[in-house]
Amino acid sequence: MEIFKEIASLKAFLSQKRGSVPIGLVPTMGALHAGHMSLIEASKKENGLTVCSIFVNPAQFNNAKDLEKYPRTLEQDVEMLKRAGCDVVFAPEAKEMYETEPTIKFDFGDLDKVLEGKFRPGHFSGVALVVAKFFNLVQPTVAYFGQKDFQQFKIIERLVKELKFDLQLKPMPILRESDGLAMSSRNMRLNDIERKKATVLFQSLAEAHKLLRAGIPLYKVKETVRQKCESIEGVRLEYFELAGVENLKALEGVTDKAILLIAAYVGEVRLIDNLLLNEN
Ligand code: AMP
Repeated sequence: MEIFKEIASLKAFLSQKRGSVPIGLVPTMGALHAGHMSLIEASKKENGLTVCSIFVNPAQFNNAKDLEKYPRTLEQDVEMLKRAGCDVVFAPEAKEMYETEPTIKFDFGDLDKVLEGKFRPGHFSGVALVVAKFFNLVQPTVAYFGQKDFQQFKIIERLVKELKFDLQLKPMPILRESDGLAMSSRNMRLNDIERKKATVLFQSLAEAHKLLRAGIPLYKVKETVRQKCESIEGVRLEYFELAGVENLKALEGVTDKAILLIAAYVGEVRLIDNLLLNEN
């Protein structure tokens, strides 16, 4: 497995390969888990060369403490990627990606003003900036993203469409722990008690889905979820919404293309999850 920290050496290596094999890209922030590895496996199956980027992108953190506390486990990550048969790791320092303070900002219209965008101003502009850089540097044939970050996937879809990146995007299903908790690097920051409490996100989604299917009106379902979260000490709900999958606009009731999305703090750790309704 090749490991690069510098853009120049990554580009030199890839320029020898490009054209002869399809290149799969899996952008990550490291602290890898089975969810990330499912993206690597998919890329390996479908491409001759798989590139995994590991970069905790300062531009997408609107909270300095969150950036500082984000787990970093590069050595372990490299071992996992070697075992999985990943071909290339690109793990640059922040200086390599941002020589100077970035000035470019992205605006995605309605798409980045709701849900995550509302609670994390500037977040998606930072995500789009770094993903555009990776697309530019790697020029992948296919790029893999998890649906755990559903809104992020929608943003990147629009980025690719509007900037006409010549690549295919593949959304990948959410991998969960046995108790339903969506796998996330941030789960590492939870203590044992918080880890148990964190299941409330998936339980809320599952219960809400059941209630909606039984015809309970959305406002009542929202109230149930709020109460469920409030009843657990240390859990603070940020949002729980039903939205259309295409534009993420809030819905009043279930349609055939709807998704439930939730964000909550468990202790100091902010977690997100979602459930596509037409698939269950
Ligand atoms: P991150 O390192 O959290 O930025 O995630 C890197 C990529 O892995 C993103 O496309 C995520 O959506 C995806 N990912 C994170 N957690 C999961 C999961 N539990 N299942 C599937 N994909 C995931």
